Amino acid sequence: MSGTDQDELELFRQMLEQSARAVVFTGAGISTESGIPDFRGPQGLWTKGGKSTNFDEWLASDEVRQRAWARRFTGDRVMEGAEPNKGHLAVAKLVVDGKVSAIITQNIDNLHQDSGVPAEKVIELHGNSSYAKCLTCQTRYEMADLEEQFKRIAHIDPCSRCGGIVKTATISFGQAMPLDEMERAQEHTLACDLFIVLGSSLVVYPAAGFPELAKRTGAKLVIVNDQETPLDPVADLVINRKIGPTMSFVVGIN
Ligand code: NAD
Repeated sequence: MSGTDQDELELFRQMLEQSARAVVFTGAGISTESGIPDFRGPQGLWTKGGKSTNFDEWLASDEVRQRAWARRFTGDRVMEGAEPNKGHLAVAKLVVDGKVSAIITQNIDNLHQDSGVPAEKVIELHGNSSYAKCLTCQTRYEMADLEEQFKRIAHIDPCSRCGGIVKTATISFGQAMPLDEMERAQEHTLACDLFIVLGSSLVVYPAAGFPELAKRTGAKLVIVNDQETPLDPVADLVINRKIGPTMSFVVGIN
């Protein structure tokens, strides 16, 4: 590690020490060290040409929906076997120690909860892919039950309670953001003195508006990402390094 690298990590450590109330904001980059590809990093799904289904297309066609379920149950299931890495564990320690009031995440992989963070401290802006919900009455469906149904009849039926469409509990492109989560994320952002971004390209809005808001309202902004982001010029500290080793050092865990 060069002297400069060491200096920036030490500066980050001091900023954390001086903070009375910090917020951690995570993107897909924190989970690549758990083996889950991101979208826009060098090995990202989109960098390699993949694409996501838009919510309107998905709503309009049962065929599109059933194809999406087939991909879910027969395709690449890397998210399901993934475990929290050092980055998640370091963040969990900050929450447990009372340093971080909340984690605002764009991730849908449940790894913050799996690392021991109480669910009420994780604000999921883009939902969660480990279960499903009826879009009309919000009844929750477990993935194991849906998979069993899909294997039996090659179809996911409408909601057994109200007939609504059952969807993985994620927020797709074109789908409205969850109001309660947006409000809670705003409250925590306004109340923090340090806002830490870990592994986000910061190009997806409205999520990327939170670090901007934090900076505008007087918090210090730290960005840890291995590529440049559009908010680097306004950040107080930018660390272009891997999240796991960086956070382990700064939080003091191995
Ligand atoms: P993104 O793919 O746009 O950006 C991730 C950023 O993290 C990139 O700039 C990349 O260079 C950086 N990065 C990757 N691994 C890193 C590491 N180990 N250390 C430091 N930096 C690293 O991700 P985004 O900004 O979160 O936006 C993508 C959207 O995709 C989100 O809305 C999210 O819902 C969804 N998504 C989620 C997951 C997940 O839940 N794990 C995975 C893929 C996509």
